[in-house]
Amino acid sequence: MSNPVDEFMARIIAKNPGEVEFHQAVREVTESLMPFILENPKYRSAKILERMAEPERVILFRVPWVDDKGEIQVNKGYRIEMNSAIGPYKGGLRFHPTVNLGILKFLAFEQVLKNSLTTLPMGGGKGGSDFDPKEKSDNEVMRFCQSFMTELFRHVGANTDVPAGDIGVGGREIGFLFGQYKRLRNEFTGVLTGKGLEWGGSLIRLEATGYGQVYFAEEMLNTRGDSLKGKICSVSGSGNVAQFATEKAIQMGAKVVTLSDSNGYIYDPDGINEEKLAFVKNLKNVKRGRIKEYADKYGCTYVDGKSTPWDVPCQVALPSATQNEISGADAELLVKNGCFVVSEGANMPSTPEAVNVFLNHKILFGPGKAANAGGVATSGLEMTQNSMRLSWSREEVDNRLHRIMKEIHATCVKYGTRKDGFINYVDGANIGGFVKVAEAMLAQGVV
Ligand code: NDP
Repeated sequence: MSNPVDEFMARIIAKNPGEVEFHQAVREVTESLMPFILENPKYRSAKILERMAEPERVILFRVPWVDDKGEIQVNKGYRIEMNSAIGPYKGGLRFHPTVNLGILKFLAFEQVLKNSLTTLPMGGGKGGSDFDPKEKSDNEVMRFCQSFMTELFRHVGANTDVPAGDIGVGGREIGFLFGQYKRLRNEFTGVLTGKGLEWGGSLIRLEATGYGQVYFAEEMLNTRGDSLKGKICSVSGSGNVAQFATEKAIQMGAKVVTLSDSNGYIYDPDGINEEKLAFVKNLKNVKRGRIKEYADKYGCTYVDGKSTPWDVPCQVALPSATQNEISGADAELLVKNGCFVVSEGANMPSTPEAVNVFLNHKILFGPGKAANAGGVATSGLEMTQNSMRLSWSREEVDNRLHRIMKEIHATCVKYGTRKDGFINYVDGANIGGFVKVAEAMLAQGVV
């Protein structure tokens, strides 16, 4: 075996058996980075990539709690503290039955590069549980969150590790987690981001991932003298990221025609307007219902049993649900139907086959670690406001977010522009994110 990527990956796979999503994420990054590392032997001899692929610390714990029937339930709890070279560990918590060590390690690995790209001083981490908040009462969610934090509190802190939300962890869960941390530590600090506005949260944090994803799409379109105005967009998911990607895309003059959840997708050829989006927000954030109810209310198409809308023709795809939701065949179909912009709100929603299709067709493809970095960037802004004990206005935070997305885009252009002028945003994001972390690791010695 002479290919250095294959050699490197053989070691990763042997050391981390069965963690397929982690292998996938590391391979994608390694393929981008290997030529750059070979050109810069200082990174190779210091084994920077080997060290980045090994978490600094993995915490695994039991989360016992009592449900409404008085029955004891036991879940798994995780926190991956991946890399702290440029700042405290930072990254979300995911509560979903599919959560396992490999998925969280992939997310934590991506998070390190993403956080570096934001230009803010944040290391990378990720955590969560196989707990499913769906169809649980508020009291059950509270008891679970309290039990989860009763172990996690000893590992996190405003200068150590600052978790946030992700799939299944929204404002309600962050509130319960923060309350328990404060009670155990007897201190009010910015240990979590995504907090409520009355108790240390930042304006725009809720909107930031989806808004940033759309700002990134606009930046990519600008490189071809184009814009989102008048474009047909397909969004997958209907959670936090999907809702605010839809909101910003509408504001920028695009027409969003799809949304989905794990049961199916809706197709509304008239476009989702502000009123319909308000219905979705209430349906998903308050009633906690299914997206099918949108089709029932507005009389549009609902496709049951298919959670991805990629067979609907669009020019811009905004995948905003989960990993590996665009297969190679989906990608072929998207491109065939005229899609030429993909800006990833979810983490790693495109399979490696799908990424190859997008790159081979030279469409504008913004990978998640660049396109969805607005969420964690605004978490960084929340941390800054907490440290300064003040709150910036909505406009101030949104302007900063917009500026950061432009900077991330510029970094991708700097490191990803090929000789023929094509911008490979995958390479751009991977190399751009890597350099800052690698330099910090070199400076800090073998730790
Ligand atoms: P939410 O829990 O708010 O929403 C997730 C949405 O995706 C729901 O509509 C959910 O449907 C759907 N979904 C989740 N898992 C699956 C699955 N296995 N198959 C089909 N549909 C699924 O999460 P977020 O919006 O916060 O996160 C979405 C994505 O964005 C994730 O990949 C996350 O890592 C990423 N992300 C989120 C950030 C944030 O700030 N929140 C920041 C950066 C990235 P259902 O309700 O039926 O489960």
